[in-house]
Amino acid sequence: MRPAIKHPNVTLRTHARVTRLEPDASGRSVKRVVVDRGGGEESYSADIVVVSCGAANSAALLLRSASEAHPNGLANSSDVVGRHYMAHLNSAVIAISRTPNETRFQKTLGLNDYYWGDQDSELPLGHIQMLGKSDRDILRTGAPRFAPGLALDYVARHSLDFWLTTEDLPDPANRVTVDRGGNIHLAKTYRNTEPHTRLLAKLKDLLGPMGCHRVTIPRWSVLSQQIPLAGIAHNCGTVRFGTDPRRSALNVNCKAHDLDNLYVVDASFFPSSSAVNPGLTTIANALRVGDHLLERLGARSVASGERNGLVQADTQTAQPHGTVLGRVEP
Ligand SMILES: Cc1cc2nc3c(=O)[nH]c(=O)nc-3n(C[C@H](O)[C@H](O)[C@H](O)COP(=O)(O)OP(=O)(O)OC[C@H]3O[C@@H](n4cnc5c(N)ncnc54)[C@H](O)[C@@H]3O)c2cc1C
Repeated sequence: MRPAIKHPNVTLRTHARVTRLEPDASGRSVKRVVVDRGGGEESYSADIVVVSCGAANSAALLLRSASEAHPNGLANSSDVVGRHYMAHLNSAVIAISRTPNETRFQKTLGLNDYYWGDQDSELPLGHIQMLGKSDRDILRTGAPRFAPGLALDYVARHSLDFWLTTEDLPDPANRVTVDRGGNIHLAKTYRNTEPHTRLLAKLKDLLGPMGCHRVTIPRWSVLSQQIPLAGIAHNCGTVRFGTDPRRSALNVNCKAHDLDNLYVVDASFFPSSSAVNPGLTTIANALRVGDHLLERLGARSVASGERNGLVQADTQTAQPHGTVLGRVEP
């Protein structure tokens, strides 16, 4: 954010919640962005509007923006907005090594050996990676109340912390909806549970060869916990992109099929969730759409060299994507 707000044509409004988007008379363009800012209503307009509220809130914003021209919600003639809500099947697993684990930054290792399945499983199982290192305080939250501090210290010092991810599948019945009061509701049933159970079993089978306790601390040798829905950490899919306007809300540039100036650029564009953390894909897609917008505006990215009469005006603040810094008049 900091490099972006250095530019004189960028303004960051904090404590500003977009409450709805209003289209023009044709219904083809967003004309007003209505904002609640500290209890007061403000409105903004722009040639191009980019929504990026996250998978639950972007869908909710479009649904709250239903109007005569868009009775089903803005950009929702396909009825997919809010649907196909996905959130990975994730489990945190703490294994206890026989030798101390002195690693401080262990979240640098992942393995995809079971991503597409294994000899005994035709189902794709997913991805295993290390988590940030547990300490006594983290363990305290999941331990029995009477667990002695020394035992927690031992577990923390010897812990190998894993994060397991199995793909969640896009099901139209798993969806975000908004009630008359504007409150968000989430309907979600996990269906791809068998591969996740098998992935957990794979990891548990590896503990012996890895030098971990298997039975000496029966309750704690493996603490596994599937992250509950309220975790919402990897949610995506509610404003999916695609080539068919009947089955997707956005085109491949993340522009709404139904509107000319509305883009949605966050994790809601995912048509499937894969089985790896979504952050980098979300960011890469935002950069890709940024390049598309530069092209649409007749501008250029700083990284791509001089084009269309635009040059980089400020090398100190130049960023590789998304900055249009100055126009050279002939
Ligand atoms: C605890 C945790 C750990 C995670 N760890 C990882 C990880 O290690 N690796 C990884 O790849 N991913 C990780 N994720 C997932 C990752 O953070 C998300 O996938 C990613 O942030 C989604 O990006 P987004 O742009 O879709 O939404 P967000 O990052 O949620 O951004 C949406 C923004 O819009 C704002 N907003 C919402 N509604 C409105 C509104 N109406 N008006 C104005 N503003 C609004 C929100 O305040 C927020 O700032 C983690 C998530 C959590 C919660």
